Amino acid sequence: MSSKILKILLLLFLPLWLNAKTIPDLYTVKQQLATYHDSGQYDQGIRRVDKQAQTYLAKRIAENKKLAQPEKLAVVFDIDETTLSNYPNMKIMDFGGTPDATREAIDEAKDPPIKASLELYNFAKTNGVTVFFVTGRREFQRKAAIKNLKEAGYTDWEALFMKPNDYKEYSVIPYKSATRKKITEMGYDIVFTIGDQWSDSQGGYADKSFKLPNPFYFLP
Ligand SMILES: [Mg+2]
Repeated sequence: MSSKILKILLLLFLPLWLNAKTIPDLYTVKQQLATYHDSGQYDQGIRRVDKQAQTYLAKRIAENKKLAQPEKLAVVFDIDETTLSNYPNMKIMDFGGTPDATREAIDEAKDPPIKASLELYNFAKTNGVTVFFVTGRREFQRKAAIKNLKEAGYTDWEALFMKPNDYKEYSVIPYKSATRKKITEMGYDIVFTIGDQWSDSQGGYADKSFKLPNPFYFLP
């Protein structure tokens, strides 16, 4: 084979070969997601962050007690993949599904709790910290969300803020940060906000933010 032909063949097939090496197929990725979840690594990752949040909250509670005029401490929880898990539905839908199918699954109100987050939630409550939910679920899903949260073991939250039905922004950040601003204006010091998306923590109005792992989906 002449070196010219060899060069042409190399130019033609090298990109294909490199691609095959670096980009896994969708089937493999789905298997990796299931393995990450089923092996317990996903839960461990969540528990690690929830523990960090609890340690920080405990420190803040102790400091607050020493103040002549203690602050009204609050924490903000997201719902999906933070306090409730959609994993069973994601698995049924093979990590796909249309927005309608996803909404229907949410409206069934059968999502199990994320246990480490439920423990963090209860730790906040039993230590006199006010708990708020700020979720990207829309207002029309309120009834199902309340039913699901209660059945999963979450009780006595101060308020559940949901995205307005006519919300048109691409990102959830303006809504979530404006809601935290509202909570601050209610006289609370938000010690932390915790969620599985980066958009849960942008836009201020929380002393600290904690990001839980979510390898399954991204929301702006
Ligand atoms: Mg979420």
